[in-house]
Amino acid sequence: MATLEIRDLHVTVEADNATKEILKGVDLTVKQGETHAIMGPNGSGKSTLAYALAGHPKYTVSGGTVTLDGEDVLEMSVDERARAGLFLAMQYPVEVPGVSVSNFLRTSATAIRGEAPKLRHWVKEVKETMERLHMDPAFAERNVNEGFSGGEKKRHEILQLELLKPKVAILDETDSGLDVDALRVVSEGVNRVRESGEVGTLLITHYTRILRYIKPDYVHVFADGRIAESGGAELADKLENEGYEAYVKGGASA
Ligand code: ADP
Ligand code: MG
Ligand code: MG
Repeated sequence: MATLEIRDLHVTVEADNATKEILKGVDLTVKQGETHAIMGPNGSGKSTLAYALAGHPKYTVSGGTVTLDGEDVLEMSVDERARAGLFLAMQYPVEVPGVSVSNFLRTSATAIRGEAPKLRHWVKEVKETMERLHMDPAFAERNVNEGFSGGEKKRHEILQLELLKPKVAILDETDSGLDVDALRVVSEGVNRVRESGEVGTLLITHYTRILRYIKPDYVHVFADGRIAESGGAELADKLENEGYEAYVKGGASA
């Protein structure tokens, strides 16, 4: 079974000619089939964790290790991470001008599976998955992320997730900017992937709202660059009632 292991991860960024440590020793293990929620106040470093796992050049790993099935993720290029089975949906996904959704998906699937999916089967798979996500078929011909609304970006993320079937998926603020209907559709997609038992999910979120639709196996509270507390789904209920105040030093979050 695939396992993502993050050990004592430290990450810095360069800002105002200074090196700032954002992640201060993150420890986390995500296994295939498990759903983990990372929750925390704004500015606590949640997206930094996602970017560091994605290999974003702005985020320097200054200590610790990340492995997927024992393989050193930090040594891998962005493409290699995807091929190894890591899926990273970013809070601010990039535009890919001139590349249609349908081409992008097929190219990604080819890279990850090591061979091009059989065309007829693939077209059917894409069509059915888009239908389940209540997506207009014309969406497949649009350029990736170009002029996508917030909801379209999130549906596109979940479409990728369902079609690419990674070992571990990291979803950063997949719930932000979604109305209740879109949130339900997106959550159903995540739950379908989860029910396959083949994907480990790391759901990063500020709000407890999405956790009404996706019940995590584990909840981790993120504060000041590390995990401050871990528990089961009941921890999310506690956060919903009490907020993050207890975890934020000095009371004010960024
Ligand atoms: P969260 O996702 O929990 O809101 P972030 O990871 O976005 O937190 O940010 C954590 C801290 O790191 C913030 O103080 C933010 O300003 C800082 N930070 C994140 N990325 C950068 C960057 N590229 N350059 C400078 N500072 C950054
Ligand atoms: Mg932020
Ligand atoms: Mg963030």
